[in-house]
Amino acid sequence: GSTIGILGAGQLGRMIAVAAAQLGYRCHIFAPSPGPGCDVARSFTAAAWDDLDAVDAFAGVVDVVTYEFENVDLDVVDRLAASVPVRPGKRSLEISRDRMNEKNCARDLGGRTAPFAAVTSRAELDAAIAEIGCPAILKTTRFGYDGKGQARLASADDADAAWEAIGGGPAVLEGFVRFDHEFSIVLARREDGAMTSYAPPRNEHENGILHRSTLPAPAEIAAQWTEAAALTGRIAEALGHVGVLTGEYFATPQGPVFNEMAPRVHNSGHWTIEGARCSQFENHVRAICGLPLGDTGLTAPGVTMENLIGDEANRWADLLAEPGAHVHLYGKTVRPGRKMGHVTRLMR
Ligand code: ATP
Ligand code: MG
Ligand code: MG
Repeated sequence: GSTIGILGAGQLGRMIAVAAAQLGYRCHIFAPSPGPGCDVARSFTAAAWDDLDAVDAFAGVVDVVTYEFENVDLDVVDRLAASVPVRPGKRSLEISRDRMNEKNCARDLGGRTAPFAAVTSRAELDAAIAEIGCPAILKTTRFGYDGKGQARLASADDADAAWEAIGGGPAVLEGFVRFDHEFSIVLARREDGAMTSYAPPRNEHENGILHRSTLPAPAEIAAQWTEAAALTGRIAEALGHVGVLTGEYFATPQGPVFNEMAPRVHNSGHWTIEGARCSQFENHVRAICGLPLGDTGLTAPGVTMENLIGDEANRWADLLAEPGAHVHLYGKTVRPGRKMGHVTRLMR
């Protein structure tokens, strides 16, 4: 059997490792410190991302490298790619981890985005507000997740507070989108260009964090599925992406508005573990290993996935007592706002 190297030790890596094990692969995780993925992987390297000796040793013991964490240094990706296939590749990382790059990419490929402008200084923020108007959202271009690194501006009076809240630039100012719903396209692509994607769930967020994904999605989303899936497919092709790629969209009366993407398996695809014939994690493994892609069809007429955030995970005993609730716990220490686990329910 061969060994898959995973950069990052979080719950996404853990779920990739579970799927990989089912297909007979071993996983070796590389991360600065242990995390939920290590409980499942065969082996683990604890080293800093810039420890090049450790990076080289890791490259020597794996047959393919993938990641569950997109902020790996591009130098490290280059170094790995010199000796082992890295899937997805550097281009996918480069574009998707920077909000300016990903929005420009989606727009260049014919996608709709919120109006946006780059903001690298406090003066540029005033110029951007003048151009885009308010309400608006100021987001750091990199490292933001779960709504962190964002500040909302109801009016230009909020500029100082917003600039301070995100800790300065580089940032992107986005016009506030009035959407009916949010949804996502989770797609898997192989190196030979073969692609498949899942039906889009409706994603509901609370405080910037995904709270629930529901299928089937409401009619407003269903009507925009084809267009959003086609755009996500064009992005995957343009990047030469291999593996799972996720696009987040707003369903608006004007059509789907691209928000952001992730070059990896995604929280809004966790429902696929029980709710699809082949999960996003298994399809990721299949895609990066060059295996045939699996059936993305639903296993039930409807599916809901609910995140367990912070002390919500303390409900685990009740959830386990609920017939038909598929409970996933990541084995993390409880902290407010932290994703501790999720529960999936299939409609019968
Ligand atoms: P993730 O954890 O999904 O990576 P993130 O921190 O990268 O999140 P976004 O997805 O950009 O942040 O924003 C988080 C949420 O904030 C969105 O799902 C949406 O609910 C809301 N939001 C973001 N941008 C806009 C916008 N331009 N207009 C309206 N709502 C927005
Ligand atoms: Mg994001
Ligand atoms: Mg998002």
